[in-house]
Amino acid sequence: MKLERILPYAKKLLTKAVKPGDIAIDATLGNGYDTVFLAELVGETGKVYGFDVQEEAIAASHARLSEHGMLERVTLLHEGHENIKQKILAVDYGRITGAIFNLGYLPGSDKTIVTKPNTTISAIEQLLEIMEPEGIIILVIYHGHEEGAIERDALLEYCRKIDQKSAHVLTYQFINQQKNPPFIVAIEKR
Ligand code: SAH
Repeated sequence: MKLERILPYAKKLLTKAVKPGDIAIDATLGNGYDTVFLAELVGETGKVYGFDVQEEAIAASHARLSEHGMLERVTLLHEGHENIKQKILAVDYGRITGAIFNLGYLPGSDKTIVTKPNTTISAIEQLLEIMEPEGIIILVIYHGHEEGAIERDALLEYCRKIDQKSAHVLTYQFINQQKNPPFIVAIEKR
């Protein structure tokens, strides 16, 4: 297939936005794969802040980062991403160039712990306020389950209304696949 798949495309956008020395945010640590990816992008001189409300996700991410020798450049926070502004050092605000939200629940874990539109939207608004112009926020939307479809609708409604003077917003999605695989919304601050 020549068309770029969803997750590689998300990574490509983050690679364009996040450079060595920058600050990046993993808003939903989960198993920590994206955290490692962002930690590679920011390099030794940058920093990643990772958020998750589950202790298990913090532990999994800690182990993965340790394996890659990248713990020093990552701050792991057992906190909801809706507290993003409060938890990030003010000196770091203008250096944030990328953020990713992997939404829904963590496979193999407690399926009742899911991301919620209100807190996701609150985090996006805070990020749009503090991040650097041309910084990119990626939402990976898993809408194959019932709650995921509700989350998708709420987020799309919100994202469509973001003032075009403040951000560019796109969706990238295969629209003829079975089982509703994930798609992305990318938001670039202007
Ligand atoms: N659906 C994805 C994985 C999503 S993991 C996939 O299939 O690959 C989503 C993570 O978000 C979970 O680890 C969960 O604990 C976390 N989470 C839920 N609400 C959160 C919040 N308010 N702030 C930060 N993390 C949250």
